[in-house]
Amino acid sequence: MIDFHCHIDLFPDPVAVLDEVERRGTYVLAVTTTPKAWRGTRRLVGDRKRVRVALGLHPEVVAERHAEVALLCALMSEARYVGEVGLDGSPPHRASFDVQRHVFDRILEESARLGGRILSIHSRGAADQVLDTIERHEGLGIPILHWFSGTPCQLERAKALGCWFSVGPAMLRSEKGRGLCAAMPVDRLLTETDAPFARAGSLPLFPWEAEQCVPSIAALHGIAPGALSRGLKENLKTLVQWTPAPSTP
Ligand code: MN
Repeated sequence: MIDFHCHIDLFPDPVAVLDEVERRGTYVLAVTTTPKAWRGTRRLVGDRKRVRVALGLHPEVVAERHAEVALLCALMSEARYVGEVGLDGSPPHRASFDVQRHVFDRILEESARLGGRILSIHSRGAADQVLDTIERHEGLGIPILHWFSGTPCQLERAKALGCWFSVGPAMLRSEKGRGLCAAMPVDRLLTETDAPFARAGSLPLFPWEAEQCVPSIAALHGIAPGALSRGLKENLKTLVQWTPAPSTP
């Protein structure tokens, strides 16, 4: 099972979650919300074989922490995975939208300069602007749109731009989310939780609960759950084996 977008460092007891992740054999991409959290989270994760840590600057904190984009870019040469990054155009974050665009543009520019990275990208209320930015930076690597909530037309554009997608139990609870998921390419799909932000009732989801959405994704695509599980694992292998191009000075 695979959770390609969760915030391990934001659980009250991250080490307990990591130990359970290890026990259950879950593959995890632990995204971070600030570049300062990246080193600490890597230390927490230690040498656990199935967990990778992504270097992030969440669009919801960019209003206060935009200056940290310099640190993020400085650390990016050491990071294979970047996230959570992106744009948030929802009303609480609209005031910082211009600075968010500047920050996201700079991150993708650096990613392309370094030969590409694997990026977990937030696009709530800003699908067009996220896709415009991706389009401007050829060679940025592999953009993975997490919990995509745009229109079917924006989804088609994202597919044409080569985007991947990660979907989770919270997204699949809505009719709209299920409709989008049904139209996503199964060979560019991963599961996620967005835990602990995403919840199941009053409790946060846990990384191993990403598995819960396998039967519904399989049904949406008209394939057997076992076949989907194997396909998702192949997708993860594709990402693990992907190599960036040489960086330019
Ligand atoms: Mn997230």
